[in-house]
Amino acid sequence: MRSILITGGAGFIGSHLCKRFISKGEQVICVDNLLTGNMSNVATLEGNARFRFYQADVSKHFEVKEPVNYVLHFASPASPADYQKYPIQTLKVGSLGTHNALGLAKVKGATFLLASTSEVYGDPLIHPQHEDYWGNVNPIGPRGVYDEAKRFGEALTLAYHRSHGLDVKIARIFNTYGPNMRQNDGRAIPNFIDQALKNKPITVFGNGSQTRSFGYIDDLLEGIEKLLFSSYNEPVNIGNPDEMTVLELAKLIIELTGSKSKIEFKELPRDDPKVRQPDIKRAKEILGWEPKVNIRNGLLKTIEYFKKMLPERKERKSNIHYGRS
Ligand code: UDP
Repeated sequence: MRSILITGGAGFIGSHLCKRFISKGEQVICVDNLLTGNMSNVATLEGNARFRFYQADVSKHFEVKEPVNYVLHFASPASPADYQKYPIQTLKVGSLGTHNALGLAKVKGATFLLASTSEVYGDPLIHPQHEDYWGNVNPIGPRGVYDEAKRFGEALTLAYHRSHGLDVKIARIFNTYGPNMRQNDGRAIPNFIDQALKNKPITVFGNGSQTRSFGYIDDLLEGIEKLLFSSYNEPVNIGNPDEMTVLELAKLIIELTGSKSKIEFKELPRDDPKVRQPDIKRAKEILGWEPKVNIRNGLLKTIEYFKKMLPERKERKSNIHYGRS
């Protein structure tokens, strides 16, 4: 049995990782300050002897008594709406939080995996984006707090590898969606599904010609696990290359929900990337990984989840054990 510590373990991706590793018989230590994460995401793990939850802000020094074999650093606001609401927390968790998580991995002799992002490419000048592209980021724009913290996190992660011989992995995660996203998350897919199910206007920013490539959570989890147990130390793009415009996405969600919603065009936020598509050659070659879930099937599963959450997501009372760090 391996011991896997997941920061941001009560968030969207972190909670899926907790469940995946518990279902595979591993020990999971979930650390979260619940700024954008939610205990209801891991409520089904309560009472499991192999699951432990620590409420802690990993931007501050934290320790755990248990042995740890793997540290997965997923803590961070990840929606543009969230990281603009919490700019300093976002900068801190991507920089100080990464430092603390790396320090923990070093002291425990654990392998470290950083949840990085396609945002390191900024508003890209090459398309699709491969890992050797250095990006086009505005450091002082509204997205800089997230992008620069993640870029710093990557630099620090590789410095620990080169200076301390730490075994590290860097996943550059492209737009991912699925159950456990919040209705008020602010990102395109949860926003559009929430609006469509309520027959409210679908808020498309700009003229909707900007593109994204959306990957379903199950594919991402498979890619993360393959990367974690690989021997590769440099960044790997994990995403679905199926590119579409935001307007096409809005129309598809209206179709799949059978909604009466109309599209409402709003101002395009500053520095919103015009295109985004992962080049996944490296993931295919090194990990033997590629996504399997197409956008229609992934959206249908996500819509089912959001339907269950209507009208308002209820806070579930949980008697989950709160460990002390
Ligand atoms: N977007 C939109 N309406 C919304 C939310 C997002 O048109 O209500 C757009 C946003 O401007 C961006 C794309 O959808 O071009 C994806 O945004 P998201 O916040 O999901 O993630 P990003 O890829 O920008 O980090």
